[in-house]
Amino acid sequence: EQSIPSDYEIAQSVTTSHITDVVEPYGLEQEDLQLMGERKAKVELEAIERLREERDADGKTILVTGMTPTPLGEGKTVTTVGLGQALNQLEKDALVAIREPSLGPVFGVKGGAAGGGHSQVLPMEDINLHFTGDLHALTSAHNLIATMLDNHIKQGNGLDIAVNWVNWPRAIDMNDRVLRETVVGLGGDVTGVPREDGFILTAASELMAVLCLADGIEDLKERIARIIVAYDEDGDPITVDDIGATDAAAILLKDALKPNVVQTIEGTPAFVHGGPFANIAHGTNSLIADEVASHLSEYLVTEAGFGSDLGAEKFMDIVSRFGDVEPDAVAIVASVRALKYHGKEMWPPDVDALEDEDVDAVYDGFENLEKHVRNLQQFGVPVVVAINRFPQDTDAEIEAVIEQCADELDVPAAESTVFADGGEGGLELAEHLVEAAEAESAFEPLYDLDVSIEEKIETVATEIYGADGVEFHSDAKDDIERLTNLGFDDVPICISKTFHSLSDEASRKGVPEDWTLEVNEIYPSAGAGFLVVLTADVLTLPGLPSEPAAADMELHADSSISGLF
Ligand code: ADP
Ligand code: MG
Repeated sequence: EQSIPSDYEIAQSVTTSHITDVVEPYGLEQEDLQLMGERKAKVELEAIERLREERDADGKTILVTGMTPTPLGEGKTVTTVGLGQALNQLEKDALVAIREPSLGPVFGVKGGAAGGGHSQVLPMEDINLHFTGDLHALTSAHNLIATMLDNHIKQGNGLDIAVNWVNWPRAIDMNDRVLRETVVGLGGDVTGVPREDGFILTAASELMAVLCLADGIEDLKERIARIIVAYDEDGDPITVDDIGATDAAAILLKDALKPNVVQTIEGTPAFVHGGPFANIAHGTNSLIADEVASHLSEYLVTEAGFGSDLGAEKFMDIVSRFGDVEPDAVAIVASVRALKYHGKEMWPPDVDALEDEDVDAVYDGFENLEKHVRNLQQFGVPVVVAINRFPQDTDAEIEAVIEQCADELDVPAAESTVFADGGEGGLELAEHLVEAAEAESAFEPLYDLDVSIEEKIETVATEIYGADGVEFHSDAKDDIERLTNLGFDDVPICISKTFHSLSDEASRKGVPEDWTLEVNEIYPSAGAGFLVVLTADVLTLPGLPSEPAAADMELHADSSISGLF
């Protein structure tokens, strides 16, 4: 068997252009960029202001989402990057926008978050490591707020903050699970007031969501100012502004707000900016990157996290309401392995057992894909199925998917081999999407903002997840009453749910029926501008696996790396 080159080897074999040459045809000049070496740049905020004045934002948006994935991921990022490349091969001006990876997962499971094979963004090793420092800036800003808060309590607590009602843990960009729950302030009077605390991943910080929704410095400051970090003894919210940390946090984030631009393997400009969670946050790259792209090019291809029940729903119901970025067409990524995973109703996941050919399981799992397609159609957007072909997939399996798409769905479908072939492997898919995006859009979010919190949650639970209804536990009922009284009832909702299933139970595959969504807690992300609805414990600080990828990494004398990807 011939050995397949690693992502890193493919990436190293490509000759890249200077980033100024990559973006110049789209209308960005060197002075519009804050260069970070030859292959990475940030777009200056003045340039964004100029684009807003000089150009229409009339580019079409193609949103890439997916069916309920296996834990390995079914290739949304690969498809997003490959589609951008394919559109350029079709002589369309197209840009790509994806989330920027955080360090946490890099050292856990092998595999990067910058695409793969012949559909990657470069320089992938930088993008997966420190990149332009945005994650570090976010970690610093987050912890500055935490420090200011505890200092306020230590210095006399003039705001009367309830020490057991602090909602601002510390942040770290590492999968260091022992920090999940901890006690701070030990060491007596000189140290501070002891209290239970914890750590979350930087990507889970509300600051990340804020950065990804802010349209400029003023908006960034306003959003930071209203983040709720604690409650006082009367139960009134304490904000970042109350503890005097707004501008200092914003200062640490002023460069992170500028979108990062890099290039794909085929020289397509790609924004890689911001990476919020897709459960407790909205799960898409920054709105400011999307906006810049819509000024610069005919097409933007962008990715939403997890399956369409999480990332895409949030893009439609949250992001598109906050910004001017309605999706004109949606590509839903399906894979043979994910279809088999549903067909076999496999739990816990045994990914090795998905390698062997099993056409019947592909048929049996199809209902999951169909449900995602129907869900997306509820938003009035055209849907195209992208069948991401993996090396082990057989012709019979791929044909089974294509046949099912033709027989059971009224939407176009195409096999995509962008991983193996680059943009050329996505031409048919790109053509379908161009056609779909040209049609008159009837896009509409799923719910109105002025209905009650309960009704919004019930709508998503029944229409998207396929639940029979919602059960609000008593804490959640209290939260709803409190939030309604605080005036937080007219904002979108961001439901946090397992990504392993359409339902709230990870083990249930396919299209789970006869179940009720259980809501435990609701809290405001007041800076971001939505309510987070918790249906189960969310892991905001994961750990490393028994054999971490980090243990197999090597750095060579010429500074090249092996074992990373
Ligand atoms: P997602 O964005 O949906 O989580 P990714 O695009 O990151 O998925 O892909 C998940 C993993 O699978 C990555 O390591 C990627 O390189 C790999 N991968 C994706 N598509 C293919 C393919 N067609 N062939 C081989 N590997 C693939
Ligand atoms: Mg991805």
